[in-house]
Amino acid sequence: MMLRRTKADQVVRVYQTFTHLFQSPEEAAQLSLKEIEKLCRPLGLHYRGSEIYRAIHHLNLHKDAIPDSLEEIPGIGPYSAAMIRSKLFYGREAAIDSNVVRIIARLSGIPFYHELRRNKNLIAAANHLHQTKHASSVNLALIDLAALICKPAPSCSQCPLQTVCKFDLQKQNYFIS
Ligand code: SF4
Repeated sequence: MMLRRTKADQVVRVYQTFTHLFQSPEEAAQLSLKEIEKLCRPLGLHYRGSEIYRAIHHLNLHKDAIPDSLEEIPGIGPYSAAMIRSKLFYGREAAIDSNVVRIIARLSGIPFYHELRRNKNLIAAANHLHQTKHASSVNLALIDLAALICKPAPSCSQCPLQTVCKFDLQKQNYFIS
């Protein structure tokens, strides 16, 4: 939630403050909305403080059992839920955002179109990569690949996936920003 549309450098200090102050949702729930908003202010996005506040109270309410559907937690969408499941519960699923769409489309040779994110073949191809007990590492590796190499203008000559990738750098016919 803290990393959404926010650089990791900006998040580190706030994350450390949270983990230093609170050992559980129960402890965090002692703070008022205003206090949580103040802690979250350096992250930007004015709604984030109240989202985190609502998530804390949701988790505190369900402290005996993590909800079956993580998406029930305020502020947790399919991307964050997939990340959490792969990291904490060994879930073998891809966290799919626009960066992952770009990489998987290029690797698989699927041409770009507006709603590609919902393409069943693309989702299946992304999840196929995650059929390992290290799915969390695959999710993190895709973040790094998107940020450093498979950028909108890709550096294919430096890419470890170059030999299996179907992207045609000359045609760039599935160039996705
Ligand atoms: S070879 Fe190029 S297009 Fe394919 S995954 Fe690597 S950087 Fe992306």
